[in-house]
Amino acid sequence: MPPVPTSSTAPAPTTGRRSLAPVVVSVAPGSPGERAGLVVGDEILRVNGETPRDIIEWKLATDDADVELDVLRGGIELDVAVAKLAGEPLGAEVSSAVFDRVRTCDNHCEFCFIYQLPKGMRRSLYLKDDDYRLSFLYGNFTTLTRFTEADLERVVTERLSPLHVSIHATDPDVRSQMLKNPRGGMSLRWLRALLDHGIVVRGQIVVCPGVNDGPVLDDTMAGILDRFPDLDSVAVVPLGVSRFNGEAAMREHTTAEARDVVDTVADWQDVFRSTVGRRMVYAADEYYLMADRPFPPAETYDGFPMHEDGIGMARTFEAEFEGRADTTTGVQRGFFAAVDAPPNPAAYTALHAGSCGAGSSGAPTASTTVTLGPRRDAPVGVLTGALGERVIRPLIEGLGRRDVRTIAVDNRFFGGNTGVTGLITGADVSRVLADEPDGHRYLLPDVCLSDDDRFLDGVTLDALPRPVEVVATDGAALRAALERS
Ligand code: SF4
Repeated sequence: MPPVPTSSTAPAPTTGRRSLAPVVVSVAPGSPGERAGLVVGDEILRVNGETPRDIIEWKLATDDADVELDVLRGGIELDVAVAKLAGEPLGAEVSSAVFDRVRTCDNHCEFCFIYQLPKGMRRSLYLKDDDYRLSFLYGNFTTLTRFTEADLERVVTERLSPLHVSIHATDPDVRSQMLKNPRGGMSLRWLRALLDHGIVVRGQIVVCPGVNDGPVLDDTMAGILDRFPDLDSVAVVPLGVSRFNGEAAMREHTTAEARDVVDTVADWQDVFRSTVGRRMVYAADEYYLMADRPFPPAETYDGFPMHEDGIGMARTFEAEFEGRADTTTGVQRGFFAAVDAPPNPAAYTALHAGSCGAGSSGAPTASTTVTLGPRRDAPVGVLTGALGERVIRPLIEGLGRRDVRTIAVDNRFFGGNTGVTGLITGADVSRVLADEPDGHRYLLPDVCLSDDDRFLDGVTLDALPRPVEVVATDGAALRAALERS
């Protein structure tokens, strides 16, 4: 049924808050939305009479049979009746994940990487979100300092699970100091409440040397065992320091400090196994690289529940590359996930079904040739971050192919200890490629690109000095790309 104007003259009642309404960005051909006359640019004011606050409510509301939409198009409000079956996708993708504004954080952590960004990047990168909805949708971590009783009710009612919670320390004073927020100490009561209601919660501890390592980390592990033994898992990750860090107390780990953290996690894994029957806590891959220790065996990651947080990525990549994995794990975007990920209902559906990994794919993914490049039998350079290179190089050397090499991209843009592949910028890739020969194939992992194929610094692929092939960030895709030459 075509859209029906409700009034051609009266201004739409929500015109003053138009920017908060979801906007249709695509309509699938043949879908119920297209048959009903939805078009790109339509603002959805109400679904079945209710204003959706976010993509979660949008998806739940449009799951019904025969949906009634109030749509604003060209300043005119229309009724759009969508005939569909219950559970059938509406077929319209909307522009954002949160329509009533992302809840920003009121903490002022000295270790916050957003404070360490240079000036002049995309404005959205500076958004300090502390929104449980983005935690559910994208795996962003929330501190729960702005969580409310109403939020708890919604999370429990709609089963928004799993959620991801920043713990950092269980000692209330230490946590308040780290978050620079007096509510930091008490807000972990919400974590207890979430767990009591059966919500799956994954925790994170960002370890800042001299602040919450050593005895404080031991105390936090004891606090987790005592108060939160039903957490799904806890990632222990190192502080990231960029060259724009202005906090003197925030510094990189020494090798000895990294080894202490690795040992502490191993000791507590033993304690957790003997008390709650599972390892519970895992150190980030970066720690093993910093400590110059081998990665733990794959089976000690218990199914890699926190792969998206950099836990066990090296072991999964290795298994994928060597053809020992049934599925691939896909992109790990880190803390800019919600900025660049497409907030579409399909992503929501996948997450709601329990798949933890926006952007991940279930099957080995082929590379995408971005521009007409060199011959298939040309030598190959695999671009990767400084840390990723230490994982990938041994795998490539194991192939015994002299025509394939890794090319580590030093992160001079962010500097400091920034070595993860997901933070590689176009400026650094351009600098490195400018010194590489013409006529070679250059493979670039997709983790360092947004969905519109831009690097974090806004550089586009066609601005690079050599053509690159974008390859899904998993071992199977890299292996497949190399086998095509
Ligand atoms: S680290 Fe997270 S909680 Fe702390 S200030 Fe930054 S965004 Fe807020």
